[in-house]
Parts: sequence; structure tokens; C-alpha cells
Amino acid sequence: MAVEKQFLPRRAMSIHAHPDDQEFTVAGTLARWTASGCETISVIVTSGEAGSNDPTHGAGFKPELARVREQEQRSANAILGIQETVFLGYPDGELEPSLALRRDLTRLIRRYRPEVVVIGDPQGVFYGNGYINHPDHRAAAQAALYAVFPSSETRLIFTDLLAEGLAPHKVKRVYVHGSEKPDTWVDVSQTLEIKITALREHVSQLGDWDPAEMIREWACEEGKQHDIRYAEAYKVMVMESEEDRG
Ligand SMILES: [Zn+2]
Repeated sequence: MAVEKQFLPRRAMSIHAHPDDQEFTVAGTLARWTASGCETISVIVTSGEAGSNDPTHGAGFKPELARVREQEQRSANAILGIQETVFLGYPDGELEPSLALRRDLTRLIRRYRPEVVVIGDPQGVFYGNGYINHPDHRAAAQAALYAVFPSSETRLIFTDLLAEGLAPHKVKRVYVHGSEKPDTWVDVSQTLEIKITALREHVSQLGDWDPAEMIREWACEEGKQHDIRYAEAYKVMVMESEEDRG
């Protein structure tokens, strides 16, 4: 598939574990799509309430931090042109790829009926020698992947959703970021600065650090073998191609 220049979904859903995951990873792609008229729904499984190592804070701080981080995510999404933000309120740092989570994500996919779902890599454990992938990232990715297939498109899985009036929905593509073997590179040269501006909204996590240089380096690295100034890389699963639609 290589360089993806043409594909622009009409509706996309981005599913991530924490506020800021989306901005560190796929926000350039989402900004590109929304600029072309794609309606985007941003789903955040936890509210990131464990995201502090400040020794003056204990458990009582978590609800407050959740509110702060939800607001940061809403501000970031507004910058990216995302209309809809959904928080599922699962516990940060303790996420499992449970059937309950898969059902909740299936409900959202059937309700919003996105053409494309954007997720992390459920297989990603080690990144280089310096980063162990957060288990919440994998849990959210796994639950989301299996919500797409088979749960969303299969009528008799989660029949309680059918009883809620939510008919099956077939997602056409899944964009997986953080894959060891990407096969698709989205040109984000026009939207990388929007991505950085959105990421900067996550003040509770960034403190005084400006992530701009690191984000530009990552995007430059992804793009350089494909003659793109700045890219985001994906493994893309195509469940229904344009040709299938006829
Ligand atoms: Zn995260």
C-alpha cells in the first residue's frame, strides 16, 4: 500500500487509553482528515487520573486530575477539528482488555458507524531498548481491535446492544500505529504543527517541556524512506475495499 495520499474517510473513530496518547501518535493524520471534512470521534478509555508522581498527592487527587486531563483532551481535540469526545472512565493504570470494555467500544462503533478506526498496536510490548509499552495502551488496542472485528459487525454478538437498537456495523479499515511492520505512510507535512499545538494542551503531563523537536524528529524519521517530509506510519487492515463496494 505504501504511501497513502488519497484515502480520506468520511467518519473516523480514534480509540486510545489515555488523554495525550492520540496527540503523541496519530494527531497529524486526524487533523489531515478533519480538514478534508471527516467527522471524527475521539474515544479515551481512562481519564488519565494516575498521571502524576508528585509526592504531595495521594488517591484523593485522582478525581481532580481526571477533570483536568479531560479538559486538556477536549482542548486538544478542538485544535484538531474533532467534534466529539467520549470518556469511558475506566481506571487509569489498571486497564484490562475485558469483555466489558469490548462491549462498550462495540456500542460506540455501532452508534457512530465510523468508516475507519484508529488504534495502537495490541502486540507492541518493547519499543527499542528504552520504552516498555504501557499495558493500558495494549489493553485498549486489543479491546478496540476485537470490537471492530468481530463484535461490531456480527449481529448475534452482544445481543444486548441489538436490544438497545444498535444494528451491526462493518468498519472498512483499521489504522494501527506503533506497528513494528508499518505498510502505510500518511503525509502529515501540512498538519504536523497542528499536532504539536494540540499536544501542548496536555500541560499537566508536559510541564515545561516542549515536545516540538521530538515530534518533528519522529515524523521526519517515518517519512524519510518515502520522500515525505513528515509522516505517520501505520499497519492498515482493509476489511472492505472501495472495490468491494462496487
Ligand atoms: Zn498513554
